[in-house]
Amino acid sequence: MSAPSRSCAVLTIDLDAVATNYAHLSSAAGGAEVCAVVKADAYGLGMARVAPVLARAGCKRFFVALIDEGIALRTLLADAEIHVLNGLLPGTEADFDEHRLIPVLNSREQVHDWARHCERLGQRLPADLHIDSGMNRLGMGAAETQALINDQDDLGRMHVEFMVSHLACAEERESAMNSEQLDRFNTARARLPAAAACFANSSGIFLGPAYCFDAVRPGCAIYGVNPTPDTPNQMSQVVHLQGKIVQTHDVDSPMSVGYGATHRIEKKRKIATVAVGYADGYLRSLSNRGTAYVGDVRAPILGRVSMDLITIDVSDAPERLIRPGHFVDLIGPHNPVDVVAENAGTIGYEILTGLGARYHRDYVGGDA
Ligand SMILES: *Cc1c(COP(=O)(O)O)cnc(C)c1O
Repeated sequence: MSAPSRSCAVLTIDLDAVATNYAHLSSAAGGAEVCAVVKADAYGLGMARVAPVLARAGCKRFFVALIDEGIALRTLLADAEIHVLNGLLPGTEADFDEHRLIPVLNSREQVHDWARHCERLGQRLPADLHIDSGMNRLGMGAAETQALINDQDDLGRMHVEFMVSHLACAEERESAMNSEQLDRFNTARARLPAAAACFANSSGIFLGPAYCFDAVRPGCAIYGVNPTPDTPNQMSQVVHLQGKIVQTHDVDSPMSVGYGATHRIEKKRKIATVAVGYADGYLRSLSNRGTAYVGDVRAPILGRVSMDLITIDVSDAPERLIRPGHFVDLIGPHNPVDVVAENAGTIGYEILTGLGARYHRDYVGGDA
């Protein structure tokens, strides 16, 4: 038997849906250029497969978190512009040069280091300036921004490609934080030398044209996570996760299921054991809360998620669909990534980036 047919879980990644989502975000962003965030291996979906599809869909600028992610992306896309969000850490200038990466300068010190580097090479190299408008995570806060406004010599030595900032509450449409951050960003921009601006993440795009500026920086929406949680998802689903049934049991009361005996059987049930567990990123917090589907039939998780296995209630499913070797949907049309995340008490981002290395990955669509 071939390894794919042997595998106990299949993760199908729809590359056409990635391209469709990119196009949808382009229209939602008005005229703003859509850059793509492909950090963390394209949110767990495989940067090597996803990034070329985005490039063919028209994306020219990419954001990663780590220098090493940028280096990996450079080997895939010779001509793309690659921006590194975690910035210019001490001593990394040569890596940015060698792989033609663009640092997001997150502090006055990084601005200074990049300026010295430009000076040494006698070139105005590109960099982004990160203004912290309210995250207090990365970027230059009010005092550092003021210092930059007061002394602009360093900025004159480089080419500021984007003025960048990041929203803290973009998926909460009504949050006052959004307009507060927008105001702080606009105030800083007005006092610094003119540069293009890149502000909105996925959800930020849907806050309106004032948030889109010259370029936007979506990640999660490209991968199918709902950027507008208060309304139905406009994005196409990219991932489909199926787990294989390895055994079924008829269980009658009084019995329990799984570790800790956390689920008591109240009446006769048919239970299927599926070969996916928390070691695959199927979070333990889905114990007694997640839902699988056998075709269109709901099959709730009973008991705890174990390392390699889950147990689901397939009492309502047709017998022919629950024999060992058959697959059930763990992430699919009836239980999309946002629903799984909600059941697990987390966000779609964590579900995607946690997707396991043991799945057989099947990439469909996205042909060159
Ligand atoms: C991860 C990240 C993004 C992408 O955010 P999404 O919510 O996934 O669209 C954009 N900008 C920065 C600074 C990020 O860290």
